[in-house]
Amino acid sequence: MSDSYSLLILPGDGIGPEVMAEVVKVIDWFSANRGMSFDVRHGLVGGSSYDAHGVPLTDDTMALAQSVDAVLLGAVGGPKYDTLDFSLKPERGLLRLRKEMDLYANLRPAQCFDALADFSSLKRDVVAGLDILIVRELTSGVYFGEPRGIHADDNNPDNEGGRVGINTQRYTSGEIRRVARSAFELARKRSNRVCSMEKANVMESGILWREEVQWVRDNEYPDVELSHMYADNGAMQLVRNPRQFDVIVTDNLFGDLLSDAAAMLTGSLGMLPSASLGAPMANGRPKAMYEPVHGSAPDIAGQGKANPIACILSFAMALRYSFDEGQAASDLERAVERVLADGVRTADLMGPEGGTPVSTSQMGDRIVAA
Ligand code: ATP
Ligand code: MG
Repeated sequence: MSDSYSLLILPGDGIGPEVMAEVVKVIDWFSANRGMSFDVRHGLVGGSSYDAHGVPLTDDTMALAQSVDAVLLGAVGGPKYDTLDFSLKPERGLLRLRKEMDLYANLRPAQCFDALADFSSLKRDVVAGLDILIVRELTSGVYFGEPRGIHADDNNPDNEGGRVGINTQRYTSGEIRRVARSAFELARKRSNRVCSMEKANVMESGILWREEVQWVRDNEYPDVELSHMYADNGAMQLVRNPRQFDVIVTDNLFGDLLSDAAAMLTGSLGMLPSASLGAPMANGRPKAMYEPVHGSAPDIAGQGKANPIACILSFAMALRYSFDEGQAASDLERAVERVLADGVRTADLMGPEGGTPVSTSQMGDRIVAA
């Protein structure tokens, strides 16, 4: 694997640049010690782009994002930008990236590091060793379906208040098949099992979802084990016995809920990575953006308190899913695990049992050393 990996780094605002600086140390380590070659570009997004260029994302940066193997993003936003026009808000930069790159598969792993098992909202023996991946459809479904709106409910005298709010859950077979393919591809790099969640018992879009996911499996991924579950049962199973799952694939709405619930199985917001993937490019790699789940955390920005692990684990996902460097990704995750096992803790990870308190940059150094 000697080809060069192109990467666009967009640190963003608040703690974004602080945690990204630690990822750069990790990238440098892999370059120096594993013979990997990274072609790294840097750009602005969010408030930092607004400050420099008057827009939350420039066309040049957008074009660059379209051309690289992977985009690595820190976080955007902050109180300084709260009064800006809607179209200039930092978040619009992020949304433009997602939309124009057409990133339809949102990946949220829930991985429980043994040293942090007591941070989980569940008991240690339920979550120890947990390693699941939720794949959420991100560009369609009830959040985008037409018709939508709040209207006068004219011909209905029995409706107290006289209004009706409408959203439409709409999925095409093509939208379902493409996110299903993402899930099956990912499963092949993991334990080769996919559980698809919908409500086929009460929703037409759920029936189509189930049929199309099954179709993709039968025709293209016969080697992957597929099961189906109603999403309400899935929510229950996720907090009852989460280790039964490997990859979960689900729609936009259910994925929104299930991935937030799964996040709490693992502890701090400072630990959670994510990826958003789109269609395969000419080189076979999917369009991809990687980012921590947390935001710009203005309350702790500039103080060296931020936990860089979510961003570092996002880079591990880039190694695995964009660069096919699965071994390097596992090694990086193991380094994080070892540092945590040694009791090294940023403030957000400091539990009652104590530990060695470290700054953002010390945490990065310890992970690189490990
Ligand atoms: P956004 O709207 O951008 O998602 P938010 O207000 O929902 O932002 P965050 O910015 O993620 O949330 O912050 C929520 C809380 O979690 C804050 O108190 C913040 O300090 C803390 N937090 C977030 N990320 C980290 C991190 N990497 N390390 C330590 N604490 C963090
Ligand atoms: Mg938030």
